[in-house]
Amino acid sequence: MCSALAGRAHCIMRDLCARRSFDAPVALVVAHPDDETIGLGPLLKLLRGAHAVHLTDGARRDVRCVRAAGFRNSEDHAKARATELARVLDLVNIRAERRHSFPIGDQDAFRHMPTIAAALGAYFETQRIEAVFTHPYEGGHLDHDACACAVAMACARMEHRGLHPPVVMEMAFYYESEHGLVTQRFAEQGDDDVEIAFNQAEALIRDQMLAAHASQTAILGLFREPVARLRPAPQYDFRRPPNRGHIFYQRFIEDVTPADWLKAAHDAYGWLHNPQEH
Ligand SMILES: [Zn+2]
Repeated sequence: MCSALAGRAHCIMRDLCARRSFDAPVALVVAHPDDETIGLGPLLKLLRGAHAVHLTDGARRDVRCVRAAGFRNSEDHAKARATELARVLDLVNIRAERRHSFPIGDQDAFRHMPTIAAALGAYFETQRIEAVFTHPYEGGHLDHDACACAVAMACARMEHRGLHPPVVMEMAFYYESEHGLVTQRFAEQGDDDVEIAFNQAEALIRDQMLAAHASQTAILGLFREPVARLRPAPQYDFRRPPNRGHIFYQRFIEDVTPADWLKAAHDAYGWLHNPQEH
């Protein structure tokens, strides 16, 4: 990130720390419903020009997984998660016309990164998005990594076209460490990390947001620390494995190998340099 963009990220994070509201158009770009709650939670209320972009509907297309989650089919699961998300976005005042979700299934975003990156770039351009909040590339969830990659590709493509891309900031989610799963922290801590502890009123809103995602109750119990951690996005090479090869999602995703990810990442870079061929 160039120093001007890094400076802009620090300004925005400082405003959030001081609880100054921010009117410029910004986009929260995340993998699935509930990431907005874990990543920024009640701080979204301060972003009065916020758009919410979800890259998947959060429902697996594999019927066994859907039934294990207590739903008859993917459509019902996706509908339930969309209803929960709508309640949450109402709580933080993100208007319906500023909400966008891709019709992509859980764990499938990596298969569509060029298409997503192209759509995000067009969205950032037409909505004049100045800043983006998204995921770090840490191997926590396959769709988180796809989201980080698609945002980076969208911004790089804008730069190639001579446009000003938005400044990108990351929110802390989860990653695999030597001692197991770590939540709400970045895998590598740095001097630019900002920690924003919620006050009582904010913690209450965050609890309401967590409760609204009723279908995710078991998982969201791991994300109850009343805090958001942010940082300017570093430059990644998505063609290298995340988090020094410690990939949490491989514990439960059997049909995607590290080689599948690397191939998808290479395709995304291929799109960046030759978009007309994709
Ligand atoms: Zn997530």
